[in-house]
Amino acid sequence: MSKRMSGLKYVYGPVPSRRLGSSLGVNLTPFKTCSYSCVYCQLGPTTCKTVERKSFFPKNEVVEEIERVLDRVEGAEVDYLTFAGEGEPTLNSDLGWIAEKARSAIESTSSNAKVAVITNSSLLWRRDVREDLMSVDACLPSLDAASESIFRRVNRPHRSLALDRILEGLAEFGDEYEGEVMLEVMLVKGYNDSEEELEKIASAVSELRVDKLHILTPVRPPASNVEPADAKAIMLAVEVFEGAGVKTSVIDFPECGEFDFRAFSSVEEAVKIMSRHPMQEEQLEKLSLHFGVDLEKIRAIPGVVEKEFRGKKYYIYTPDSKF
Ligand code: SF4
Repeated sequence: MSKRMSGLKYVYGPVPSRRLGSSLGVNLTPFKTCSYSCVYCQLGPTTCKTVERKSFFPKNEVVEEIERVLDRVEGAEVDYLTFAGEGEPTLNSDLGWIAEKARSAIESTSSNAKVAVITNSSLLWRRDVREDLMSVDACLPSLDAASESIFRRVNRPHRSLALDRILEGLAEFGDEYEGEVMLEVMLVKGYNDSEEELEKIASAVSELRVDKLHILTPVRPPASNVEPADAKAIMLAVEVFEGAGVKTSVIDFPECGEFDFRAFSSVEEAVKIMSRHPMQEEQLEKLSLHFGVDLEKIRAIPGVVEKEFRGKKYYIYTPDSKF
């Protein structure tokens, strides 16, 4: 087993996504560089909490890697090229430029992939951030609370952020943006699943231009010891949100799609995506078969950790451990 992870630095996947089908992810921030430190974050506590936008990586290098991976997966089903990853993608000040280049790269292949951004919404009050998102096909902003105190408990935001400003940003974004807005609400037991908070979220959402609302619960091992909202709270949320006129779906199941391991040149490269995208036992078995590497050897890679969550075994990779 090589001591260093080779190959891809920014692009991972395609990975199965609960909302986007087969998604090729692009990471635009250093690990855990985020404006929030959500209690449910599967990446662990935020190590760099910031609201400062920066050019974190050489943007040409990111685009070249996107082009290289698109070539490598030519012919595979990729539904979305998704900017998400190891932190908040809108913190990257090159996002708009990279998203436009990514679209041109897709157009030069036979792929029909769309471009999406998953954002925590925290910076949508900034005009430059909204402008950076204008060219993408779909945007998945999140809103987990409509009360300042609950927002602080669930999302543990940077001290300069205030919920009112974020709601204003979401409203402005909805007015200006022409793509699809799929709002996400992550329901965490005992945090934001009370009827009172759900009513407040519904009232806030009814003021926004939202095409779909996805109710999520933590289905992969989260950073803190939190539990997903129970079925009763989820059903109540659907009733309350639909009552406010918002088309709502519940995404409360682990991904059942397939990882496409053809995109990876080595088992080490594939293992790296488990830092952002834990694999279930069956997915790890398929990885072992694909590369002909013994399952026990993969489990023994330093940094690969087994975690049980909601009765299922998951494997994650902690990047702090060196290969
Ligand atoms: S879940 Fe997303 S927004 Fe929340 S801390 Fe993790 S990376 Fe940041």
